[in-house]
Amino acid sequence: MIPFNKPYLTGKETAYIEDAVKRGKISGNGDYTKKCQLFFEERFGFKKALLTTSCTDALEMCAILANIKPGDEVIMPSFTFVSTALAFIRQGAHVVFADSHKNNPNIDETKIEDLITSKTKAIVVVHYAGMACNMDVIMSIANNYNLLVIEDAAQAICSKYKGKPLGSIGHMAAFSFHETKNIISGEGGLLAINDDKFIERSEIIWEKGTNRAAFFRDEINKYEWVDTGSSFLPSEIIAAFLWSQLENINQIQTKRLEHWHFYYTNLKDWAKKNSIEIMPLPKKETNNAHMFYLVCKSEAQRSAIINHLNTNNILAVFHYVSLHSSAYYKQKHDGRNLPNSDKFTSRLLRLPMFYELVVKNVVEKISEFNG
Ligand SMILES: *Cc1c(COP(=O)(O)O)cnc(C)c1O
Repeated sequence: MIPFNKPYLTGKETAYIEDAVKRGKISGNGDYTKKCQLFFEERFGFKKALLTTSCTDALEMCAILANIKPGDEVIMPSFTFVSTALAFIRQGAHVVFADSHKNNPNIDETKIEDLITSKTKAIVVVHYAGMACNMDVIMSIANNYNLLVIEDAAQAICSKYKGKPLGSIGHMAAFSFHETKNIISGEGGLLAINDDKFIERSEIIWEKGTNRAAFFRDEINKYEWVDTGSSFLPSEIIAAFLWSQLENINQIQTKRLEHWHFYYTNLKDWAKKNSIEIMPLPKKETNNAHMFYLVCKSEAQRSAIINHLNTNNILAVFHYVSLHSSAYYKQKHDGRNLPNSDKFTSRLLRLPMFYELVVKNVVEKISEFNG
């Protein structure tokens, strides 16, 4: 069986975990955490990087930092993972969904301005499959209306927009190290802060509403409860695992990109013959090979391809039920049709993508499908 995903281990994970345990400090914000955070700040230019236990947690921190209050509105795409919206809903926000582009699932930036009201506080963008949203336009809209921009960069590590790393452009950003992402720690995430004014508070929210991080740096002589927050920081065991992945980040990315280009080159003609849209070839620097997807001509065709692959012991999967039609939010959605979101919900199909994949085996079998 070729699975859809297989977590890749670099080989050093358990050695670093053992080392973390032997050092005798296995709670959060220790040596491995600091090494990982410094890595992100130096490589991607974030002003502050804080490890979290998930991207969902990092998004919750964004919602708190953005001071989202009941009744505030937040604009985001509907074709995304639950957490993009959930983090803001928990703070009482009303989510206003914008449609995707016709040709890719990213938020259609031309639809944003019409959705802005006096209650709008933030725009959340999702760089789907690591493909950059049109950040110049989005940042300029945000500047004009004094809104915050939060990048859900869960899938976007190592990808860029006009030379700038994704996650370094908005006021803040959230990454995921869930085992289905390129770089993993089982569960895990990162909050990236790009605007100085959020740095101090981000550390407090991270540490249960206390100023403990400043205390550990000897900046203050006692720590106490000063704000809201939660226990958003991961243990050193998770950070140690993550460090072994970060040491191999270039090698992981090179391999995934090889797979991606093999799919693209070898499925182009087959896709055309079957009226299937293939994932667009992003500019080189804005492809991080997080995913390879197809957009089928119909839901029925998608089911037929999934069945064909299943019969050949290959697992392909689809996602997302657009959030505006989800059980939890459809009553609260304002009723606008989002045809492009719906299109990706019913027709997008993801092919297996992981480090150890023998991609030619998938290409061989999928090429036998006609219909
Ligand atoms: C994976 C993912 C998340 C959630 O990440 P976790 O680390 O599992 O919380 C959020 N948004 C998007 C777009 C994702 O792909």
